[in-house]
Amino acid sequence: MNYHNIKHDDMLNGKGLRVSLFVSGCSCHCHNCHNPQTWDKDSGILFDDKAKQEIFEELEKDYIDGITLTGGHPLEEYNLKEITNLCKEIKEKFNNKTIWLYTGFLYENIQSLQVMDYIDVLVDGPFVESLKDKNAKWIGSTNQRVIDVKKSKTKNRIILLDK
Ligand code: SF4
Repeated sequence: MNYHNIKHDDMLNGKGLRVSLFVSGCSCHCHNCHNPQTWDKDSGILFDDKAKQEIFEELEKDYIDGITLTGGHPLEEYNLKEITNLCKEIKEKFNNKTIWLYTGFLYENIQSLQVMDYIDVLVDGPFVESLKDKNAKWIGSTNQRVIDVKKSKTKNRIILLDK
């Protein structure tokens, strides 16, 4: 898996202060995507142990609420295994930190993936230019949902996160 950036102290992509991983590759190709430079899966640099350690060092800090996985697209087939393993390891090491994941797919179509066992909040759906809302929290367009995954699994229906 390749990635473009590890952002420290990110206030924009999820609740609180977070470390965000921008992975390479996205097949969704939303019109006017904010990050088209990440579409090529071979762009960026290799996500190696050093990059993983950088994330873990951030998660060790008390004031960091958790990690946000975005891109690009963390759930592309070529990223999925490594993202799943990373999420599993984070939950084992940092059980008190939340994992947010941004996907162009819909919750209904990915809810049975193993990675969903580790995700706390899923921001789903493609970016739709005609529904763009610059003031909406954590989303780019109003079709996107900020889903509380744990509650949704328990209730067996989609429960949005309290903002
Ligand atoms: S899913 Fe995200 S990264 Fe992919 S094209 Fe859409 S907005 Fe861009």
